[in-house]
Amino acid sequence: MTAVRIDGNQVAATILAEVAEGIEARVAAGLPRPHLAALLVGDDPASETYIRLKHEDAEKVGMTSSDHRLPATATTAAVVELVESLNCDDEVSGVLVQTPLPSGVDSAVALAAVDPVKDVDGLHPVNAGKLLLGEPGMLPNTPAGVIRMLDHYGIEIAGRRAVMLGRSNIVGKPTAVLLLRRNATVTICHSRTVGLADICREADILVVAIRQLDFVTPDMVRPGAVVVDVGINPRPGGRLGGDVDPSVAGVAGWLTPVPGGVGPVTRAMLMANTWQAEQARRPG
Ligand code: NDP
Repeated sequence: MTAVRIDGNQVAATILAEVAEGIEARVAAGLPRPHLAALLVGDDPASETYIRLKHEDAEKVGMTSSDHRLPATATTAAVVELVESLNCDDEVSGVLVQTPLPSGVDSAVALAAVDPVKDVDGLHPVNAGKLLLGEPGMLPNTPAGVIRMLDHYGIEIAGRRAVMLGRSNIVGKPTAVLLLRRNATVTICHSRTVGLADICREADILVVAIRQLDFVTPDMVRPGAVVVDVGINPRPGGRLGGDVDPSVAGVAGWLTPVPGGVGPVTRAMLMANTWQAEQARRPG
């Protein structure tokens, strides 16, 4: 079997086009453009790149955005103060605090300072609680993107056996909850799971986020299964690879590539969340 390639760039383009269309309709009705405020603490080169791409995405969909910087030596109190000023700024629809934060800043405190209605990363404890309770709120970008990819390709979730490999707060746990909310029967695996390969082989839908290059091999995948590879890892030679060995394409029915899979959809979901935040603040 050769797996159908789940094209993240195509899904992302669809999401961005929907957001852009919605924004233009509101602007035509006299409402302001949504505004994304991005906060970077320190000068980590990877974070600089991510922030730049987020500003580019905002411009593409017709949002405005602003760049807020603090030095790597900033205190937690200074980060919280800036976040709170953005929370209070009526021009700002969404506040993004780029992670990882420097070691001198308490990340949990800084992220919890974001107003939950402007929490476009969907990582605030209030939004995490709403996710678990099944209440409307901001969803974290990658988990929401995984579900969006399955929906885009018309892949049935309800009633199917889903296995989530990885249990981080930003990917594994929220993705498992979203799959459960969509009525999959969900198993969560982690580094202490016994019999991991056998459990993976039971999956109709296998989502992998473990930070281990090429970890999932064809013998761990049920023929025809849907495999979503969230992992982004450096390969020797400088290219990127996922947590799933590309040879899984010979067994799976559907597979997301790396790069060009979950990554672009995650980026697009940030724009969708900022758009959602603006609509919640100022219904049109
Ligand atoms: P974390 O490092 O926070 O969590 C990794 C998880 O994998 C942990 O739950 C850990 O288990 C589990 N794990 C590690 N090794 C094994 C193993 N050998 N067997 C079973 N489970 C294992 O990672 P993240 O969730 O933040 O990210 C996961 C991957 O996804 C990374 O490669 C990251 O770069 C990528 N990523 C991609 C995004 C995208 O846009 N495509 C967005 C976010 C992340 P335990 O809890 O027991 O330690």
